[in-house]
Amino acid sequence: MRLVTFEPAPGCERLGIMAGEYVVDAALASAACEPASRAGAPTLPVDMMEFLNQGDSAIATAERVATWAAGELKRNGKVVGVDGATVSYKMSDIRLRAPVPRPPKILCLALNYKAHAEEGNVNLPEKPYVFIKPGFAPVVGTGDKVIRPPQSQNFVFEGELAAVIGKRCRLVPREKAYDVIVGYTNINDMSARDLGKVPTIPGLFDWFAAKAFDTSLPMGPALVMKDEIPNPDNLRLQVRVNGATVQDETTQRMLFKLPETIEYISGLITLEPGDIICTGTPGGSKGALKAGDIVEVEIGDMGVLSSIVADRA
Ligand code: MG
Repeated sequence: MRLVTFEPAPGCERLGIMAGEYVVDAALASAACEPASRAGAPTLPVDMMEFLNQGDSAIATAERVATWAAGELKRNGKVVGVDGATVSYKMSDIRLRAPVPRPPKILCLALNYKAHAEEGNVNLPEKPYVFIKPGFAPVVGTGDKVIRPPQSQNFVFEGELAAVIGKRCRLVPREKAYDVIVGYTNINDMSARDLGKVPTIPGLFDWFAAKAFDTSLPMGPALVMKDEIPNPDNLRLQVRVNGATVQDETTQRMLFKLPETIEYISGLITLEPGDIICTGTPGGSKGALKAGDIVEVEIGDMGVLSSIVADRA
């Protein structure tokens, strides 16, 4: 199952279930299909964060609604809500937002592929090397602009697989790590790499200046639930700039896989539903982007995350 956050009309943000070329409004479809809600009360929320916080019961409901909606689309070419209005939309008629538009936390691994560390002339870390982005301002969806900080002359892409946390947890042993993941999505850890340099203190890296700026985390197109990704360690990860492939790697080459990473992070901080763990970028993340460039991150068959580079107006 794949979930999205979408806008059927500008400013109207809704939780959606993907069904082939369509997105179905999760709350409105649930009101029409669930026996308990024949009176018209939705059994699914309109908001992704509320959905994730409801946990396994909401996921089970969404799976029933997804199956029902797929049947309706096959029979009638559309899904109709309790008031008779169509609640399925063609992809081309809606705007996708980031699937988790306001994550509580965004935790990112640095130097998690050997080739990337070698390109930066730095040693490999002995444990997961984590930095954070703020959970709100950086997140944009597919097709959105990423705004280059005007001070940066080395604005670069970093295509990465991200895991989305589905349970509040701490002290998670590596054997249980997949239990707390709800699904996966594509992210692009946009970086103003030159702003990380601190001329007066060689060796120090300013993570805030280089990584935390607005629009620095394109995410999506969808939250692909873990039932579709039995093995996140064997996905092809490709990045294209203006159609030319610049990163092409398998997630197999991650230094710290998700079980070790989640054990490490949850040993220091409580994880919550909606938290995003970005697993680091492979080699090839270099070449300053300029306004008008199109960056695409494609992982397995999880879809393409597309971003348009722009300068601040
Ligand atoms: Mg990164």
